[in-house]
Amino acid sequence: MGQSLCVQCRTQPVDPAWRPFCSERCKLLDLGNWVAGRYRVEGDATTIRNSDDPDPDA
Ligand SMILES: [Zn+2]
Repeated sequence: MGQSLCVQCRTQPVDPAWRPFCSERCKLLDLGNWVAGRYRVEGDATTIRNSDDPDPDA
Protein backbone atom coordinates (compact mmCIF):
# COMPACT_ATOMS: atom_id res chain seq x y z
CA MET A 1 0.00 0.00 0.00
CA GLY A 2 2.11 2.91 1.18
CA GLN A 3 -0.42 5.44 0.10
CA SER A 4 -0.31 8.67 2.04
CA LEU A 5 -3.38 9.90 3.82
CA CYS A 6 -4.77 13.37 3.49
CA VAL A 7 -3.13 15.65 6.03
CA GLN A 8 -6.45 17.31 6.77
CA CYS A 9 -8.97 14.52 7.31
CA ARG A 10 -6.42 11.72 7.66
CA THR A 11 -8.93 9.23 6.40
CA GLN A 12 -8.81 9.54 2.64
CA PRO A 13 -5.84 8.77 0.40
CA VAL A 14 -4.09 11.77 -1.09
CA ASP A 15 -5.23 12.81 -4.50
CA PRO A 16 -2.26 13.86 -6.66
CA ALA A 17 -4.33 16.77 -7.91
CA TRP A 18 -4.78 18.11 -4.38
CA ARG A 19 -1.84 16.78 -2.47
CA PRO A 20 -1.11 16.72 0.31
CA PHE A 21 -4.89 16.65 0.57
CA CYS A 22 -7.53 14.26 -0.71
CA SER A 23 -9.76 16.89 -2.20
CA GLU A 24 -10.31 20.57 -2.74
CA ARG A 25 -12.57 20.54 0.30
CA CYS A 26 -9.78 19.44 2.60
CA LYS A 27 -7.39 21.92 1.04
CA LEU A 28 -9.81 24.74 1.74
CA LEU A 29 -10.43 23.47 5.24
CA ASP A 30 -6.74 23.47 5.96
CA LEU A 31 -6.33 26.93 4.53
CA GLY A 32 -9.26 28.12 6.62
CA ASN A 33 -7.68 26.76 9.78
CA TRP A 34 -4.41 28.42 8.94
CA VAL A 35 -6.03 31.77 8.30
CA ALA A 36 -8.15 31.53 11.45
CA GLY A 37 -5.09 30.72 13.52
CA ARG A 38 -3.18 33.59 12.02
CA TYR A 39 -5.94 36.06 12.72
CA ARG A 40 -6.38 34.73 16.20
CA VAL A 41 -2.71 35.30 16.94
CA GLU A 42 -2.86 38.75 15.47
CA GLY A 43 -5.35 40.22 17.81
CA ASP A 44 -8.56 40.70 19.61
CA ALA A 45 -10.87 40.23 16.69
CA THR A 46 -13.59 37.89 17.78
CA THR A 47 -15.71 38.65 14.78
CA ILE A 48 -14.40 35.61 13.00
CA ARG A 49 -16.27 32.41 13.58
CA ASN A 50 -16.10 31.16 17.11
CA SER A 51 -14.80 27.68 16.52
CA ASP A 52 -14.99 25.62 19.67
CA ASP A 53 -13.31 22.61 18.15
CA PRO A 54 -11.27 23.13 15.00
CA ASP A 55 -9.75 19.70 15.24
CA PRO A 56 -12.48 17.06 15.45
CA ASP A 57 -11.26 13.74 16.55
CA ALA A 58 -11.97 11.00 14.06
ZN1 LIG B 1 -9.03 14.91 3.24
